[in-house]
Amino acid sequence: MFTTAIAGSLPKPAWLAETEKLWPQWTIQGPELQQAKADATLLWIKAQEDAGLDVIGDGEQARQHFVHGFVEQVEGIDFVNKVTMGIRNKRYDAQVPQVIAPLRLKGRVHAFEAQLARAHTKKKLKFTLPGPMTIVDTVADRFYGDKVKMAMAFAELLNQEALALQADGVDIIQFDEPAFNVYMDEAADWGVKALEVAARGLTCTTAVHICYGYGIEANNNWKKTLGDEWRQYEKVFPALAQSSIQQVSLECMHSHVPMEMMKLLEGKDVMVGVIDVANPAIETPEEIADTIGRALQFVPKNRLIACTNCGLAPMSRAVAEAKLKALAEGAKLASQRYA
Ligand code: ZN
Repeated sequence: MFTTAIAGSLPKPAWLAETEKLWPQWTIQGPELQQAKADATLLWIKAQEDAGLDVIGDGEQARQHFVHGFVEQVEGIDFVNKVTMGIRNKRYDAQVPQVIAPLRLKGRVHAFEAQLARAHTKKKLKFTLPGPMTIVDTVADRFYGDKVKMAMAFAELLNQEALALQADGVDIIQFDEPAFNVYMDEAADWGVKALEVAARGLTCTTAVHICYGYGIEANNNWKKTLGDEWRQYEKVFPALAQSSIQQVSLECMHSHVPMEMMKLLEGKDVMVGVIDVANPAIETPEEIADTIGRALQFVPKNRLIACTNCGLAPMSRAVAEAKLKALAEGAKLASQRYA
């Protein structure tokens, strides 16, 4: 009854990249790197299928980071001379590339891993792209001088790649917009519009993932400042409910997001985060089924998808594998309980 999916990223094996890091360096170079990316992608497809998940992803094994993997293939960006920038409203510093000229795609961005994944699973395939607002918050602007204008330029490029991914046979295209939870007014004002530009003309399922970030220290510290009730979604969800985006992924397990926020997403499929990505403890099927049960007060049964809170990239491989299995088992238990 309850479909299962992951938000997106999975840990990279040690033979591909540094482990338990958000911006890992590749461990090998040259033609062998491409082969290792392919091998890691296949490994995680198998792990997701073995766990019993319904929607399969590439685990973002072919990109260093969810934003920079896309940006690397964009012309008009100086990727060599990175600068330090405070991102997500200066929550933490990151080494970011600089936009220095009009933006244009160099060619396809994710054809290799999308086509590889499509050829190796018969299940529904979800592919993730960064959302326009999150991209502009993760690059330095030395050219446009206007955040919205630059976001719209990125949205056009995302749209080009998204249409190509759809042609590759991807069933669900998900845009990741953690920035929506940081710049709530701007997200409601133009972030959702930029997202719709990115999703323009898609006939496959469209989704957006909005979270409180990976389980890294800077994010965990930030969450401690947010108080007992995290109401960030309250401003963005009504705008999303009005949009053409079909699925919304949100953080729930161990978060302080009031469950009633989900009511604001009427008419949408809701990917409820039932797996915590900031805690290596493995959720029990009972805990997961309980979370699903609480969400069912606000989301119709046929619209609830059990999901992870965010990507699992910075976790250990063993923990991630165990969490995939827990997700499938918890959703199965919930299906029996709430049938
Ligand atoms: Zn996330």
